[in-house]
Amino acid sequence: MELEQVSSSAWAVTDGSTAGNVGCVRLADRTVVVDTSISPATATTFRELIEKQAGTPITDVILTHYHGDHVFGAQVFADCRIIASKPMAAMYPKMMKDRWSPKAIEAWLKELAKTDPEGAERFKGFAITLPTCTFKDSMTIGEAEEILIQHTGGHTEGQSIVYFQPERVLFASDLIFHQTYVWAGDHTNDPKQWMKAFETILEMPIDIIVPGHGPLCDKEVVRKYLDYFHELETWIQSKIQENLDLEAVLKQVETSPIPPYTEGMDRPTGQMKSRIIGSISRWFEYYKER
Ligand SMILES: [Zn+2]
Repeated sequence: MELEQVSSSAWAVTDGSTAGNVGCVRLADRTVVVDTSISPATATTFRELIEKQAGTPITDVILTHYHGDHVFGAQVFADCRIIASKPMAAMYPKMMKDRWSPKAIEAWLKELAKTDPEGAERFKGFAITLPTCTFKDSMTIGEAEEILIQHTGGHTEGQSIVYFQPERVLFASDLIFHQTYVWAGDHTNDPKQWMKAFETILEMPIDIIVPGHGPLCDKEVVRKYLDYFHELETWIQSKIQENLDLEAVLKQVETSPIPPYTEGMDRPTGQMKSRIIGSISRWFEYYKER
């Protein structure tokens, strides 16, 4: 795991070792963390790296959305204020009755131990850790409000982005998957809100973007994604107008060059393919309701 310098007072891990990218911003009196990685073990390593680097105490952790690859390390920061948007925090009780119930987690870790013993080892002592501070639309951190957390929705209903204004750095979280296919298959995914968030980002003074997955990028990638999403939206709407059902549409995904895959990407296989299928399925359902 490598803590990469993003700007003079911001760092990130984008090498894939944390699953979802993580980052931090150093202010005069404190250090603020953005997302917590996929497991307690990866979060522990991440925290050690920050403590060596930042020089001010870690007091706040922002959770951008509820996906496990961003929040499952939260227990390592249980001494901090854990911040999430209200709709994101509202996912916790629902998830804890279902996929995050002690029983479900035990079964999942048992399965993981069989297929990926090393991966399972990283979850030793794992406990779901809840947000301790919530906000509705936005909140700021710092004497001069250096950090802005903005609820956007899109990738998930409770989605937020984190903007470090003095150094023009944006932590875009999973609104941006850079150099890998996007996951748009969450059941709360909202393509319209996602595109609106892209438009907002394009108007903000930003020099560098820390995406949710993949290496650092800039607004050029946001512009390309916005075009791609418009193209994908038009394609899906045309299939709905042709009265095709989801099964027929997914068949076309397998065989036709449409929907286009993001630039420079080979025909996807494996995990990438399941991301496409999941994403198209969600968008089909979404646009069919409209
Ligand atoms: Zn996500």
